[in-house]
Formats: sequence, structure tokens, C-alpha cells
Amino acid sequence: MPSSDTSSLEERIKRSIALQGPMDLATFMAMALGDPKEGYYMSGDPFGKAGDFTTAPEVSQMFGELIGIWILDQWQKAECPSPFHLIELGPGRGTLMADMVRTLSQHPKAKEALSLHMVETSPSLQSKQQQALKGFTQQGIKARWHETIESLPKGAPHFIVANEFFDALPIHQWIFHKDKWHERIIGLGKDKNLAFGLGPVRDLGDKTCPEAPKDGAIWEHAPLASALCQTLARSMAETGGAALFIDYGYKKSALGDTLQALKAHQFADPLHAPGKQDMTAHVNFESLEKAVQTAAPSLSSVLTTQGSFLLEMGLLQRAGQLGTGKNHEEQESIRDAVERLAAPDQMGELFKVMAILPQGIDAPGFSN
Ligand code: SAH
Repeated sequence: MPSSDTSSLEERIKRSIALQGPMDLATFMAMALGDPKEGYYMSGDPFGKAGDFTTAPEVSQMFGELIGIWILDQWQKAECPSPFHLIELGPGRGTLMADMVRTLSQHPKAKEALSLHMVETSPSLQSKQQQALKGFTQQGIKARWHETIESLPKGAPHFIVANEFFDALPIHQWIFHKDKWHERIIGLGKDKNLAFGLGPVRDLGDKTCPEAPKDGAIWEHAPLASALCQTLARSMAETGGAALFIDYGYKKSALGDTLQALKAHQFADPLHAPGKQDMTAHVNFESLEKAVQTAAPSLSSVLTTQGSFLLEMGLLQRAGQLGTGKNHEEQESIRDAVERLAAPDQMGELFKVMAILPQGIDAPGFSN
């Protein structure tokens, strides 16, 4: 496609399908979210009330503070290495990183040893993150931005955090039809609009289907998420460190269609207006755990729910502290944030927290 092409992303996708045939869902998702000109994350700011969705760090500063404490604990268990890299994948507005760094900075040695690394593809979000972290960089804390994990520095331990990052990575869907798995593809319907269809037959290879499929069953695969997890685990095994991944998803592989699009806090048709609405899939934590085991047997992983993690990390105590001396309205809003982050019918159960640690090291937040 020539770079001077001025047609919309949707037109370009349709033209590509008309000329080269249907595309798989992973290709479509990668274009809808990451097209350099019109990809969903590449220009606007999708977060918060005025945007399309609200993430945990945007609900309350307590989220990032408790994660900051978790990182501090792991850093101390690793015998306070200096220097160390605090890495965030997909930092959005930079809120989580700012809350973590504020917390870590209360420990003078950690503040001195710390350098920040943001892995972010979107130039507009990169500049938001620079703004959010300005106070810290002005105090001399080093911060660097990376488009991919490939340019992350080696040589010092990696402490990695990712919130709602893995759900934004492209997935493939396979669909079961007449006793065979097929790639689910996107082509043009009779009305010339984008439409799902049945693609080539897929061989199971060494994969084991999680349950007996019925006709029409959907099985999702996220090879990019697994590959990223493997690369990160390998470098952590080499350099030391720990990781915390938080996302909505499932603990055990299962069949089902979890692809979803969100526009202005409402569900939307995933094939409608590519680039103009968020598009995600639930994260298969079992396959991330397998990726870690395969890539780095010297590491272990543990998994729990967000509610259980935050409560064990002291969410209620922190809420109590924050609320002290505040007026009734502010106290109510802190109480609402606790509910939102930890209640089972809100983010508490659907969101999972996975930690990757050196074997033999324990971590707070994972007793249940
Ligand atoms: N962690 C933030 C934002 C979550 S949204 C929060 O909790 O508020 C997903 C983030 O990942 C955005 O910053 C988006 O631009 C970034 N992102 C999506 N795909 C990416 C990729 N392949 N590489 C790096 N960043 C990516």
C-alpha cells in the first residue's frame, strides 16, 4: 500500500481483501489497533469517562501504589540490586507508572537505583506518559521509551508490569465446522461490508483442544502474547527480576468467543469502523504460564484474582489512610473505587493477576 494513500483504514482493509483475499483476525486486529495512521491507539486518548473504557489505574491511585509496594518487596527479596529497570508494557496515560514510582521513591535506595522503561507503540500516548512522568524525570530519574521489547536494556534486573496490555494483542480464532477446525477469517459480505467467514483447515499439531467441540465452537490462540511472554521470561531468567501481569481473562484454557469491541463504554460490533473503537480478547493465562515454563524453567508463575491480590496487598488499609481527614464526598469516592477494583461482580473476579518470579521466592498477594 503506498504511504501517500489517503483512504480510510476501513477502505484500505476492504481493498486489501478485494485484491488479496480474506485476512485472518490477528491481521485485522493488528491493523485496527496499530495502523500507524489510524490505528485505535495511535492517535487519540481512549481512557476515562470521556473515552471508551476505564482501566484500574484510572479508577484510583491505590492500584498503582499497591503494585509499587509489590515491586519494592520483590526488589528487596532480590537483595536490592542497583541499578534495576522498572518496565511497563503499554502504559496508557502513564498513571500506573507515576503511582508506582511515587511509592518506590519513598525508599531512597530504590529511587536511586531505578530507571524507567515504557514499551509503547503509540506516539500520542508516549507524549502523555512523558507528561505524567515529568516530575520524576526532572528529579533525575532516567526514563526511556521503546516501541518494542527488543530494545529493552540488558545487564540489570527487569521488574516488569503490564495492566490491560495482553488483551490488546492480536488473536487468531479457529472455528469448528463439520469435524474440522478452520481459521476464522474476515472477508467481504454480499453488501460489501466486512464479514466473518470460514477459512483454511487448521491442523491441531501438538495442541490439545481444551474440551470436546460442537459445531460452531470457537478456540482462540494468541501466538504474539505467548512469544512476548517467552522473550520476557528468558531475559528475566538472565538478568533477574520479577513480573506482574494484570488483565481480564481465564485461568484455564476453554472454548469460546471472547473478542469484544468497546465504544464509549458500550459493546460494539468488532468489525464495525476499524480503528475507531477498542478491540480486545480475554487473556488465556494458562497459555502464558506454559510459555514461561517452556522459555525459562528457572522461573515460576502464580495466579490469582485482582480482588484477592489487592485485598491481600492492603487495599482496605490504604483506603482507610487515604480517607482520613477527607470530606464525606471524597470518602465515598474512595469507597466506590475499592468496590470497583475488588468486588467480585466488578473487576475483582474477572481480572486476574499473574506473577513471574525466580523459583523459591514467594510474593505477597497470592495466598489464595
Ligand atoms: N496500561 C494502561 C493502558 C492499557 S491500554 C492502563 O491500564 O490504563 C493498552 C496499552 O498498550 C496502550 O497504551 C496501547 O497503546 C499499548 N499497546 C497496545 N499494543 C501494543 C504493542 N503491541 N506494543 C506496545 N504497546 C502496545
